[in-house]
Amino acid sequence: MTMQDDIAEILVSEEQIQAKVAELGRRISEDYAGEELLLIGLLRGAIVFLSDLMRNLDIPVRLDFIGISSYGAGTESGAVRLVMDLETDIAGRHVLVVEDIVDTGKTLSYLIETLKARQPASLRVCALLDKPERRQVPIVVDYVGFEIPDKFVVGYGLDFAEGYRNLPFVGVLKEHLYREVLIRSAILRHMNGYLERELSLQELVDWATTTLAENDVSAEDEAFLQDLLARAGEPGSADFGLTLEDCAELMGRLGQELRVRTRPLVRAEGAG
Ligand code: 5GP
Repeated sequence: MTMQDDIAEILVSEEQIQAKVAELGRRISEDYAGEELLLIGLLRGAIVFLSDLMRNLDIPVRLDFIGISSYGAGTESGAVRLVMDLETDIAGRHVLVVEDIVDTGKTLSYLIETLKARQPASLRVCALLDKPERRQVPIVVDYVGFEIPDKFVVGYGLDFAEGYRNLPFVGVLKEHLYREVLIRSAILRHMNGYLERELSLQELVDWATTTLAENDVSAEDEAFLQDLLARAGEPGSADFGLTLEDCAELMGRLGQELRVRTRPLVRAEGAG
């Protein structure tokens, strides 16, 4: 079995990508003629595109990276956060954000707001792929390589469970390969998000309910999500909540150990 065997269809070939990257390189070089450009790559998916694109630019460039994590990818709770910041001070610089793919637009809209606040001289976005059908947040993408339909794609930097990034083309992964793994990893991410207090119990429960209603989940994942909902109880009722035992058992079913850290009790001045 090779990686190629896991691909249902090649959506954008290596030749098409290379021709497009050269064309984008020419346009960007013309638009920024006489300026220095700071390229900001979104980790990790954009690095293949970025490394090809920058070699097609004949203006001086600088390079930096930013890391953003989301609860996205079919899970739709929409929380996005910065996990690795830039090293460069972007104030007064011409900035071009380079992204692999724009889907709902949540990642880029968050990033654009974050970067705008740092007062660059200009800020534009270049994305290799765009799935306009999936857009939830309106954003302007200044340079787009290819518009593609609403399909899960891998290759040319784009991964599935960290694999397939090194394929030289963009292809659609065979569906049976990713459906279960995607839902399983979303469950784990949401449970961790709840335990780390990035998601409220209400958000976790809403997500589990929507996932059960809208996805064809495996019997094992269905049982897990139903158990989670049963343990959490009725939102709004007095016993809506998860006990420590509930969390430990649920995480155990995901093959994870629950580690609990408590802080020493500091008594208030004058108390006791
Ligand atoms: P957005 O915030 O626009 O919904 O999502 C953007 C991010 O979702 C991308 O940076 C990428 O990591 C991921 N993504 C969206 N669609 C796909 C896809 O079809 N394949 C892969 N591998 N990642 C995707």
